[in-house]
Amino acid sequence: MNVYDSEQIAARLAALGYQQTGILEIADLVIVNTCTIRAKAEQKAFSFLGRLAGLKMKKPGLIIGVGGCVAQQEGAKILRRVPQVDLVFGTQAIDRLPLLIQKIGEKRCRIVDVALTEKSSPSNALTDRRLDGSVSTFVTIMRGCDNFCTYCVVPHVRGRETSRHPDRIMEEIRSLVLSGVKEVTLLGQNVNSYGKKEGLCSFPELLARVNSIEGLLRIRFTTSHPKDFGSDLINAFKTNEKVCNHIHLPVQSGSDRILKRMNRKYTRELYLDKITKLKDTCPGIAITSDIIVGFPGETEADFNETMDLMKTVQFDGLFAFVYSDRPNAPAVQFKNKISEEEKRKRLQTLLKLQENFTRMKNQALVGSVQPILIEGISKKQSSGNFNCPDPIVQWTGRTSTNKIVNFYGNDHPQCSADIFPGKTVRTHIEKAYAHSLWGKPVEVKSATGGLKGEESYAA
Ligand code: SF4
Repeated sequence: MNVYDSEQIAARLAALGYQQTGILEIADLVIVNTCTIRAKAEQKAFSFLGRLAGLKMKKPGLIIGVGGCVAQQEGAKILRRVPQVDLVFGTQAIDRLPLLIQKIGEKRCRIVDVALTEKSSPSNALTDRRLDGSVSTFVTIMRGCDNFCTYCVVPHVRGRETSRHPDRIMEEIRSLVLSGVKEVTLLGQNVNSYGKKEGLCSFPELLARVNSIEGLLRIRFTTSHPKDFGSDLINAFKTNEKVCNHIHLPVQSGSDRILKRMNRKYTRELYLDKITKLKDTCPGIAITSDIIVGFPGETEADFNETMDLMKTVQFDGLFAFVYSDRPNAPAVQFKNKISEEEKRKRLQTLLKLQENFTRMKNQALVGSVQPILIEGISKKQSSGNFNCPDPIVQWTGRTSTNKIVNFYGNDHPQCSADIFPGKTVRTHIEKAYAHSLWGKPVEVKSATGGLKGEESYAA
């Protein structure tokens, strides 16, 4: 969501004549787009803002703005805490950003704009997103959340749930496809409840519409709430060939007692039941999840239930975090907080278990041929820290199941295929690593028509 918002911010600033730079020292304007989902993200934002003090001393005309969820949560307190900040703008103020920047430029004043209204919906305006040739991008379909999980700040900093009109979403995706995008990830805090409040189409209906867009190859979406995840969405994986064979379904805990304290509104049994139906309907689907370790009151027995659920599901990947108190979230008041030491210990145990499953899932693909959507030259190339046998240009792409595959490009003698971003290339998987795969392209598919169902390409 923050990546998408940053693109929206950049597009609005471009309309004012600003250009992006990778060199902080030459910037006339610095916008820090923040996240407050965990304490660590917030600390990082403040530490970065602190480091900007020296730059502002050297360049008094520099404008520094803070946006995103920390801005929404802290408001004017940021101006008091960080004197070099000129602007604090909340999650619903992005459309007003050009006006705010202009005002600060003219009057050299400091501004806080964190108005949050129930009725505000994600902008329906089509913005020039300047994607710089990206093959894959995010598209917001809704904003905010009505679920109030007890550990979460999202409903407090992003407001209530509102959905964009499907026509505007289709317009945006068509325009992205015209600019070269082949894959979109539809974004919402709970995509399963898309359109329900406004009486728009359902999420599976939206998927079917997006699936019909010519030139688009792949569709991903995040996040699904297990309580609203139903058979209509499970079937959508089968009926829409462009919907990728991957679902991110955050479970958060394997203990019913903790799920209740988290206000997640589903039980362990219900979650596992949905996973079984999903696996039965979509063989080979990759399932990833989120887990919070050390929620207040989590006993050893609760933790073991989470470990047990992991063994049952065998996730392809997992985002696991230790619980941290967030301002405004009800769990701040909960008793029986778990010590930092115990939380770290449980996290390490859990990550170790997951490592085995991730390796096992990656290893199972060795020897198969997978259609890979080529994204570009591997980012790790420049750092010299990648799993490439020798330092020759290495390319990267993803399977439909969202696994990263690296491979040699056109200039390597081992590569006979024509490699360029946006192509779907059949790739023989040769090696599995902890977080990626190594492969060899065996042919180039046409960039038209969605490719799915990796098992049908199994060697
Ligand atoms: S569903 Fe729960 S965890 Fe997700 S954004 Fe809403 S309140 Fe937060």
